[in-house]
Amino acid sequence: MPAELICFESSCRARYAVTEVIYNCPRCGGLLEAGYDFSSVAAGEWKRIWRQRRTSNAPLDQSGVWRYRELIPFLDDYRHVVTLREGNTPLLDAGRAAAYGGLRRLTFKHQGFNPTGSFKDNGMTCGASQARRLGMQRVACVSTGNTSASMAAYAAAGGLQPAIFIPHGNISYGKLAQALEYGAKTLQVEANFDQILKLVRVLAEKLGIYLLNSINPFRIEGQKTIIIEMMDQRDWQAPDWIVVPGGNLGNVSAFGKALRELRELGFIDRTPKLAVIQAAGSAPFYEYMSNPGGRFQAVEHPETLATAIKIGDPVSWPKAKHEVIASGGLVEKVTEQEIADAKVQIGLCGIGCEPASAATLAGIRKLTAAGKMDAGADVVAVLTGNLLKDPDYIFRYHTGQLEAPGGVRIESTFGNRPVVVANDAEEIAALLG
Ligand SMILES: *Cc1c(COP(=O)(O)O)cnc(C)c1O
Repeated sequence: MPAELICFESSCRARYAVTEVIYNCPRCGGLLEAGYDFSSVAAGEWKRIWRQRRTSNAPLDQSGVWRYRELIPFLDDYRHVVTLREGNTPLLDAGRAAAYGGLRRLTFKHQGFNPTGSFKDNGMTCGASQARRLGMQRVACVSTGNTSASMAAYAAAGGLQPAIFIPHGNISYGKLAQALEYGAKTLQVEANFDQILKLVRVLAEKLGIYLLNSINPFRIEGQKTIIIEMMDQRDWQAPDWIVVPGGNLGNVSAFGKALRELRELGFIDRTPKLAVIQAAGSAPFYEYMSNPGGRFQAVEHPETLATAIKIGDPVSWPKAKHEVIASGGLVEKVTEQEIADAKVQIGLCGIGCEPASAATLAGIRKLTAAGKMDAGADVVAVLTGNLLKDPDYIFRYHTGQLEAPGGVRIESTFGNRPVVVANDAEEIAALLG
């Protein structure tokens, strides 16, 4: 099945070989996407094959990304694949979180169950495999944390040399620790995410390094499988809403592409609405989408404790705009306090997640309260990262020491302080009584 790179701009749509090392359209500067000739698709047959693969011991079939390889057919040789058995993430019902969000029922698709603890693995297996196919030896990314952790792991597993660039002093230790342990050359740059991205693009060109930022169209292909796997787990019954946090907006772009392709190829018979939730201090996409006719404007100093979505100048906004509109969806923003409180409610379901992921439930609560989302709607929220990514945030919240940017203290609304006690059975019994 021939694959190509196609410019996403509707006025350009220039086509390039899938093996070209380009990240933007050389003609117009637009974003690129992978395109395929899907004329031989057999939806019913493929659904059956994908089910059968769940019982297979072959690495390619065990991967929750490559199991669905018929819908991401950009490789010509599967020996290039680097897999850590990514994907395979559960759908979890969460009654308590549903009630908090104003819904009768809510399901989480928990991407924190991935090998390095975030959905970045779904994309990175594809990006790293493409790097090997292209014969690249070095890979690099700029990251607020999870991309670097994921890229470091997949590079190490695939025999590539990883270099990661992170904003100095702005990353959680859980994520930084991963990159160090997986052996990535780690550079902490005195600049913010958006500035470092510009720097790295210059360096990649100069040094022949393959860039694995979310602008990389092959990462987007891998992230499509989050939606494909979710539909497979729901026996191809589409929900009413899919809710996702928005940072660089790669994930919502991937979700939208997956939904369009699944619908066009006859895998699902209706399209869920996409709801993108941003942190209020870092919400350029929310501002843009709420102001029809306005220009897209970056936030120069994005602020949020949810560092995974602390991005002021998201590269994928044109794709995200297209996908939100095509799905009939919307964009919402939530405060630091709303994120922090929603996060505990997810924890109290025995599920847990990192701060950025909790923006989903905070957003749902706001949308149901405003009547924009129906209490009876069938909603899937995507939890993007694992609870253990940012333990410092959690400890501070529960002990009343969490401060939002600007020094505003976050209320420990659902705080659960550890209690120091003497080695005294009576005293402890009284306490637990
Ligand atoms: C990367 C990331 C996000 C943001 O995803 P985008 O594709 O950049 O919008 C949200 N949550 C977590 C945990 C992430 O790692």
